[in-house]
Amino acid sequence: MFDIEKYVNEHGHEQLIDCNDPQTGLRAWIAIHNTKLGPGLGGIRLWNYESADDALLDVLRLSEGMTYKAAVAGLKLGGAKAVILGDGKEEDPRVRRDRFRVLGRIVDDLKGRYIAAEDVGTTTDDIIIVREETYHVVGLPSEVGGSGDPSPMTAIGVLEGQRALIKEVLHTDRFKGVRVSIQGLGKVGFSLASRLVAEGAYVIATDINPEVCHMTSEKLGIRIVKSDDIYNEECEIFAPCALGGVINDDTLVSLRCRIVAGSANNQLKEVKHGEILHEMGIVYAVDYVINAGGLINVSHEMNGYDREKALADVAKIYDTIMRMYIIARRDGISEQSAAHKMAIERLLPEVAPG
Ligand code: NAD
Repeated sequence: MFDIEKYVNEHGHEQLIDCNDPQTGLRAWIAIHNTKLGPGLGGIRLWNYESADDALLDVLRLSEGMTYKAAVAGLKLGGAKAVILGDGKEEDPRVRRDRFRVLGRIVDDLKGRYIAAEDVGTTTDDIIIVREETYHVVGLPSEVGGSGDPSPMTAIGVLEGQRALIKEVLHTDRFKGVRVSIQGLGKVGFSLASRLVAEGAYVIATDINPEVCHMTSEKLGIRIVKSDDIYNEECEIFAPCALGGVINDDTLVSLRCRIVAGSANNQLKEVKHGEILHEMGIVYAVDYVINAGGLINVSHEMNGYDREKALADVAKIYDTIMRMYIIARRDGISEQSAAHKMAIERLLPEVAPG
């Protein structure tokens, strides 16, 4: 059985809330990892986990990841996350509504230590229900004063991160002729592909959904390849924008790129794969650094949303990725280690003068 206490002690989580409501059948957990820099912000994930232990491990891991993402992005936010153990009954809209309202009340009881948002398996409609019970929610649709779908901002952040790396690795300021292979043409992948095409990049892409592939090639005129072939494509940038764990023992041997830079969360299957990329001379734009555009965007909702200001902050991902690259080169470490160093530096207690 999963030893929660050991995990929490080793990883330094501040709080783990077990949300069990027999009346509605809600089974959920909220993990607050670190609030040193500000309230913990993170999405509510709804997933049919195989066991409660799987859900617990996920919420603990994801909340810690949010701490690093916010820290490196320079936000005054901490890391937290919620997961709901799906059982299929939430497909009934009434059950779903009741469960999200209960969760909303629990979020409200935390008095702003946790700020909820949408995530995998949840929609803005769910978030609107949570908002009925608490103000501690972001990621609302623009019609109700929120910032809307964060995906275009995530794509802009990824593009800026890629721009920094082509400058350093390829010594160019322009995407013209740069080959970028994109895995996943969903909300972020499509937006990224459109922007790259507009800047003159040569885009190769794939998606497991044939309709999405067809529609994208019609609209953007890009080359589509079979799902498994994307790893073998000779290119300057490989951009994972679908799943996690795609950099692993099987795929590393196929990669023919100089940079890995995409939006997907948890791109490395294991920590060692970040080190192997480094040994192979492939520059890795660490996922939680390059995909922070959505988080930066929703964080602006907390002070009254202004798209121009949000956009300016998202564009700073260029500088953050540049800093990560420079630290890695200066210290002779992997980009993964450099990013971790940047996060920890912000989180360490300030040293008193003198
Ligand atoms: P999405 O669900 O809109 O798109 C994912 C796409 O990937 C889908 O079109 C799907 O068919 C495709 N796909 C799935 N498995 C695939 C495979 N094996 N090969 C090729 N294509 C495959 O999701 P999204 O919002 O575009 O997010 C993409 C990734 O970026 C996810 O990992 C997400 O966690 C991460 N992310 C997204 C945001 C955001 O603002 N949306 C922010 C941070 C991180």
